[in-house]
Amino acid sequence: MLSKNYELERIFIGRFSYNADLLEELNNFCVTNNIRTGLISIIGALKQVKFGYYDQQEKKYIFLDKFNPELNEPLEIASASGNVSIKDGKPFAHLHMVVSDRKGNAFGGHVMPGTIIFAGEFIIQAFKGEDLVRAHDKETQLPLWKE
Ligand code: ZN
Repeated sequence: MLSKNYELERIFIGRFSYNADLLEELNNFCVTNNIRTGLISIIGALKQVKFGYYDQQEKKYIFLDKFNPELNEPLEIASASGNVSIKDGKPFAHLHMVVSDRKGNAFGGHVMPGTIIFAGEFIIQAFKGEDLVRAHDKETQLPLWKE
């Protein structure tokens, strides 16, 4: 187990740009505002979602829209939750999301590049304290937090 202690430093509330790639705009925002450790919460709507699912045997992400044509339509962001830490020397957002369609069906996954905003409102809590740094993990082949 690994854990570190932080104090709340700043809270940002805002909205994403229409047609923005969610992860790109989020990561740029974190870099620009020097948010190195934080908590992310988002609600809104998407023009397009790109979800990954980590195949624990193959040790790689598969894209869920391949198997679910329902994911290729506009969707609500019912809930998105994530964190900010340091990867490759700069702030990096790791985000998971539950989306819903016009019938209220819900889908979820790891948010990938290619997730496009229709409208999105965010709250980001920035913490102060020691950097939390991602590094390659042998067992999972994922970039996990290290001491
Ligand atoms: Zn993930």
